[in-house]
Amino acid sequence: MKLVPKKMLAMLGGGQLGRYFVMAAHKLGYKVTVLDPDPESPAGRVADIHLNYAYDNKEALDKIIQTCEAVSTEFENIPAESLDYLNKKIQVHPNANAVRIVQNRIREKTFLRENAIPVGLFYVIQSIEDFNEISQECFPGILKIAEFGYDGKGQKRVNDIEGALKAFAEFNHKPCVLEKQIQLDKEVSVILARSVNGEIKTHPVAENIHVNGILDTTIAPANIDYLTKKNVTDLAKMIALKLNYIGVMAVEFFISGKQIFVNEIAPRPHNSGHYTIDACYSSQFDQQVRALVEMPLGNPDQHSNAIMINLLGDVWEEPKLHEPNWESILEEPNLNLHLYGKEHPRKARKMGHITFVTDESLSHDHVEHLQNIKKRL
Ligand code: ADP
Ligand code: MG
Repeated sequence: MKLVPKKMLAMLGGGQLGRYFVMAAHKLGYKVTVLDPDPESPAGRVADIHLNYAYDNKEALDKIIQTCEAVSTEFENIPAESLDYLNKKIQVHPNANAVRIVQNRIREKTFLRENAIPVGLFYVIQSIEDFNEISQECFPGILKIAEFGYDGKGQKRVNDIEGALKAFAEFNHKPCVLEKQIQLDKEVSVILARSVNGEIKTHPVAENIHVNGILDTTIAPANIDYLTKKNVTDLAKMIALKLNYIGVMAVEFFISGKQIFVNEIAPRPHNSGHYTIDACYSSQFDQQVRALVEMPLGNPDQHSNAIMINLLGDVWEEPKLHEPNWESILEEPNLNLHLYGKEHPRKARKMGHITFVTDESLSHDHVEHLQNIKKRL
């Protein structure tokens, strides 16, 4: 149902993605209730109402049913059952089943393989017996816990069966996938929004550089040829269709020579889409709000080229704990500073990001200049 401004929307998850959702909803005059067990959550701080409960707390879910018209999520690890429960009474986008599939690497990769969407070689590991099936071709590989991994957590690089068995024991024999390590030429991502009418709008393909398994830099548009752009965009759209998806979805891809593989799917806006806040007519969060309230989607195109660089807690901690020199960012005319209002910087914790916007075409010099600014913070 189309929801007019002033209605109350609900967001499951209170991280930085949820914070930007709240801001985008406020821009259009909606109110937002955030559910997050963390009393200091970045989205909870800016929400109209912060429900400080676990994601499966019945009272909190009932409160959402009584007071909100529609609900979305910013976090794939919320229990899909909570979405099912809410969906009996109010509008839920994306659907619980899509979240259920993509929140578990076994279901996610099996879904991709069954739908003939290119995915790298992988094996499902539920028990030690599953190691009997594995071919040597899968090494060097990466063992990944099926659920609750993020930012490279719950992953271990392994060179042979013995290494994989050891890693499986370290993960307490929790269900895993073993993936072949792919020779990466580039990593790119596609963020799309699909409306209730089935209309799909995609943001320009972003090129992503990871450091220690965590996104470090996004360059948009990606420096890849037209055909690759078309292929990854078409694959992302196909995934959205197969999942019956409404809302914002991100798909991460590996590019290796002429081959393209889907790495993973996120049922929400994505860190690699932060550039859309400063460089696109409608950001990924604007689209998330529009899709949720079943209104027309915005224009996802870029009005500026952009480079986004993440600021992790490391910036505060190195060489020793200090307040970073924010002036060096704020004095740069084309650079925007974003901080998520998190109280405690910790190594590898995402605290904020910077986005450089320009009419010029992007070069490696731009990236280097920004990396130098970050180093001197
Ligand atoms: P997360 O959920 O933490 O984002 P990913 O599975 O996306 O986990 O892995 C994080 C990063 O690790 C990827 O973006 C990529 O750089 C690297 N990586 C993961 N899987 C592979 C693989 N099979 N081959 C090569 N690199 C990989
Ligand atoms: Mg990833």
